Amino acid sequence: MGPLVAQPVEAALTGRPHPITGAPAAARTAWTCPACAAAQPLAVAREQLFVCPTCAHHARIGARQRIEHLADPDSFAEWDADLAGRDRLAFVDTRPYAERLAEAQARHRMPDALLSGAAAIGGHRVGLAAFDFSFMGGSLSAAVGERLARAAERCATLRTPFVCVTTSGGARMQEGVFSLLQMAKSVAALHTLADAHMPFISILADPTMGGSIASFAALGDVIVAEPRATIGFTGARVIAQVTHERLPADFQTSEFHHARGLIDMVVDRRQLKGRVIGLLRVLAAPGGRAGTDASAA
Ligand SMILES: [Zn+2]
Repeated sequence: MGPLVAQPVEAALTGRPHPITGAPAAARTAWTCPACAAAQPLAVAREQLFVCPTCAHHARIGARQRIEHLADPDSFAEWDADLAGRDRLAFVDTRPYAERLAEAQARHRMPDALLSGAAAIGGHRVGLAAFDFSFMGGSLSAAVGERLARAAERCATLRTPFVCVTTSGGARMQEGVFSLLQMAKSVAALHTLADAHMPFISILADPTMGGSIASFAALGDVIVAEPRATIGFTGARVIAQVTHERLPADFQTSEFHHARGLIDMVVDRRQLKGRVIGLLRVLAAPGGRAGTDASAA
């Protein structure tokens, strides 16, 4: 699993100083690929959706950039904007959780690590949710789980497909059992969606780990992953230590899971919107998951 730190791309997009060089955002006009160090003008990097033209590395991007990329212009209307994370356990590790959370909320101008809302993708009405890994590792707080569950349930009521882009380290340790409960809650909400015959397209980005892949993220009617994303439950190093096995070089990558059937397709980010539109068209067609129900309704 990659390092759990904010990548330069998020810093460039949120106007924060560069996490490594400390250069102010305004001074940066270039983007450097974190994998191969090739530099691109920032405008080119944006156009390429922060996929490196040299090595095809898919850099981590924020929830707002995801929504901007997938949703039709001006079609996104946020749900539950007032549903913010909070410190239920008065938890303190090296710092109070309340302090960490307030800092992340202020820095990202987000109530928690997930944005959700109504949107159109290629003219198809959907519910769209996107995680932000730079917000506390995209971890599953009670607020994130509640937003996710409400989004899935709204899609069932509104009779629209649900599209979710996950990039998450799994449980939020500072929320203890409240975090773990979100696994069951999100799964139950997705059952409501399935009962309404509305499809769930789950898009996995780097990384999708722990409780997230062990619950909602693995339940897509179609599961799409970005190339070479790290996807797994426990980190590879821990598995190697416990099993004393030498793990394959591509262990816990999108391609590894695709070859074994967990993931339906691995799609370059630059083709992702087109592929999602194609899936929505097929699923909405007569005989498709949403189409079958629409004809019966
Ligand atoms: Zn590169």
